[in-house]
Amino acid sequence: MTDKPTLCKRCAERLGLESDDGGMCEICGNVLERTELIDSIGPDFEYETFNVGIVMPDSAIEREAALVRENRLTGVRSFKTEFNKEIRAALSSRLGKRPDMESPDVTFEINFVKNRVFYNIKPMTIYGRYCKFSREIPQTKWHCTSCRGRGCKKCNFSGKMYPTSVEEIVAGPILEATRGRESRFHGAGREDIDVRMLGDGRPFVIEIINPKARSIDLREVEEKVNMDDRVSISGLEFCDKSLVEHLKNTKFKKTYNAHIDKKLTKEEISILESELAVEIEQRTPIRVSHRRSDKIRKRKVYKVIGKDNRTTELEIYCDGGLYIKELISGDEGRTIPSAASLLKKQLTCCKLDVLKIHYDHFR
Ligand SMILES: [Zn+2]
Ligand SMILES: [Zn+2]
Repeated sequence: MTDKPTLCKRCAERLGLESDDGGMCEICGNVLERTELIDSIGPDFEYETFNVGIVMPDSAIEREAALVRENRLTGVRSFKTEFNKEIRAALSSRLGKRPDMESPDVTFEINFVKNRVFYNIKPMTIYGRYCKFSREIPQTKWHCTSCRGRGCKKCNFSGKMYPTSVEEIVAGPILEATRGRESRFHGAGREDIDVRMLGDGRPFVIEIINPKARSIDLREVEEKVNMDDRVSISGLEFCDKSLVEHLKNTKFKKTYNAHIDKKLTKEEISILESELAVEIEQRTPIRVSHRRSDKIRKRKVYKVIGKDNRTTELEIYCDGGLYIKELISGDEGRTIPSAASLLKKQLTCCKLDVLKIHYDHFR
């Protein structure tokens, strides 16, 4: 019996150990000599940068650690690090692509346990702003509440509550251009289905899962989306995924136009202009209480401008997160003050539009 381990040349040199010649390497099982897996890498999709991930059996990792411990080796680079570097260099020259360890377009997971290579494609994220001119479509796809998307009689076997959504109208041409598998839509907040989104639109990020083409013409995508007269988008640009969190976690101030169901007098309008522009205490509205926790929010209204047309309209500039329909109606005393409580009469917001989301896209 010899106490020399059996190692391949690479592993012996890396650890600086003497080894028995011949036989299977105790650490890596001579995986790098079996080149079929690495040779098979040749994606048929578009990417500029790549990284390599290696999956080896646990026993290999344990065996290497044991040898390091027994021989009191220090400063040893693991075989994973070393092989990774070697494979990266070889692939870079064969494929003519650039390695990127931070945020590659694709990671080649070379799995020596399953004897397969997996392509992990980085999702694409695209920023833009959308307007919605319809009072009949939601921002995102709503699964049918009866069948939860499987399809039933109630939803006409579509699995959806509404025939389409801003998300679907926007995603269509983008999925087509990128040949992606699916999309995820992240809006900076959302408006109710019956509320229009006007002005320069609401910021959003759309995420494309498994895109096969990355250098797409964003202006062309905009044109295609804008052929649908219910939605328009503008300012598409490629962005970092971190923008999603930023849009989700920031409350933006908004300007609304609220149509009141009654014609108010000049005096009544001037009362609202001066007395509604204050801090509002708003308990969770009855209509959303089934999905939002019941609490009291404090939000400011900064400015109210009355417009006296055939019916009265109020332009309201306020904090994000304030429910405007309830700011008008009072929601049975749950929103204080409200247009209704100030004028001591029943008022309803019969139509609502978002005129502006106060957000400047940072660069
Ligand atoms: Zn080895
Ligand atoms: Zn259904």
